[in-house]
Amino acid sequence: MQQASGAGASPSHPLPSYLQADHLGPWGNYLKQVDRVTPYLGNLSRWVETLKRPKRILIVDVPIELDNGTIDHFEGYRVQHNLSRGPGKGGVRFHQDVTLSEVMALSAWMSVKTAAVNVPYGGAKGGIRVDPKTLSRAELERMTRRYTSEIGLIIGPSKDIPAPDVNTNEQIMAWMMDTYSMNTGEAATGVVTGKPVDLGGSLGRREATGRGVFTVGLEAAHHTGLKIEGARVAVQGFGNVGGTAAKLFCEVGARLVAVQDHTGTIVHEGGLDAVALLAHVASTGGVAGFPGAEKLADEDFWGVPCEILIPAALESQITAENAPKIHAKLVIEGANGPTTPEADDILHDSGVLVLPDVIANAGGVTVSYFEWVQDFSSFFWTEDEINARLVRIMKEAFAGVWQTAQEHKVSLRTATFIIACTRMLHAREMRGLYP
Ligand code: GLU
Repeated sequence: MQQASGAGASPSHPLPSYLQADHLGPWGNYLKQVDRVTPYLGNLSRWVETLKRPKRILIVDVPIELDNGTIDHFEGYRVQHNLSRGPGKGGVRFHQDVTLSEVMALSAWMSVKTAAVNVPYGGAKGGIRVDPKTLSRAELERMTRRYTSEIGLIIGPSKDIPAPDVNTNEQIMAWMMDTYSMNTGEAATGVVTGKPVDLGGSLGRREATGRGVFTVGLEAAHHTGLKIEGARVAVQGFGNVGGTAAKLFCEVGARLVAVQDHTGTIVHEGGLDAVALLAHVASTGGVAGFPGAEKLADEDFWGVPCEILIPAALESQITAENAPKIHAKLVIEGANGPTTPEADDILHDSGVLVLPDVIANAGGVTVSYFEWVQDFSSFFWTEDEINARLVRIMKEAFAGVWQTAQEHKVSLRTATFIIACTRMLHAREMRGLYP
């Protein structure tokens, strides 16, 4: 991403991204998705502008002392998009390309997602513009704690509950929980989800997003007559979401034929061993160099013949340029916002069924909800109970989306938006405008 530094800004301290000329980016894509759903909202459409404006945006400066004694500043955000149905909910992302537009879009997709699976939350998201790989563990901890303290004004167990996202994990959540607890003088386990199990975390949370991707994938395969056994799967991003989903698909007989991540693209027509690949990624940091796999040019990934394609990395990966190369039967969006609206139309016209992020990756926030409920009641469930409840919620939500899509002859994305936006705007209307 372009990192223009304005007059007076030194190269190591470029101007904050929100002060640079910016295009609408992912937020622009979200706005187009809202425009597509508006004709289906009936009388509630008079409230639709609510969805086009985040309720609250907090931009924070995060200064820390680096290990070498210098001071660095990071740009942090917490955006609360919609709180009509409950407290804000959504992850925190640490990535060098984080921008306000991105966090706004991610927060809005959280609103749609929580409403789509009907968990009692609004939508929020946070992020810090940083490449965490450049920080030592101590620097990472200081940055996380200072960020948590800064957004402490608006987060809380019944206000807004952060969780892991790209490049954040259980350790980061533990630091956030501790910082918030120290500042408020209570053991506030319910302030974040995705915590370590020994600190009020939930069994099954780590695998939940991938398990949800797998569950809706099976449902869609069932509805479309796609046989999973022997189906070829290609995955972009082999982290918590893509790696888990790939492993679960392989367990039921699918064949993992291609994987792409930030270190490169690997293929193997005979099928890659997902479990061994997970171990390789854990020890080397990426899929590159996996023994027995062939290397492929990154731009050729989208054309790899497969039945199931799972983008599970970042936004705007499937674009008008590469969408025509995709011949999969199913695209299951493990990532948030991986498909641009233009690419959505191309895939639709060529008969590729897209299972949208706002339902396909909702397994993570669903088990986050279970974690939060367990923290409040201080009573913890077994992993089997959690997985069974997760699968039930995902299947019910998918069935509703499928039916709405058939009724209105719209894409699964628009159908999910119809259900979710109706729930959000109905809550908005019932609460009424204050004052
Ligand atoms: N970051 C995840 C997402 O995009 C999980 C959010 C949560 O559990 O609150 O859905």
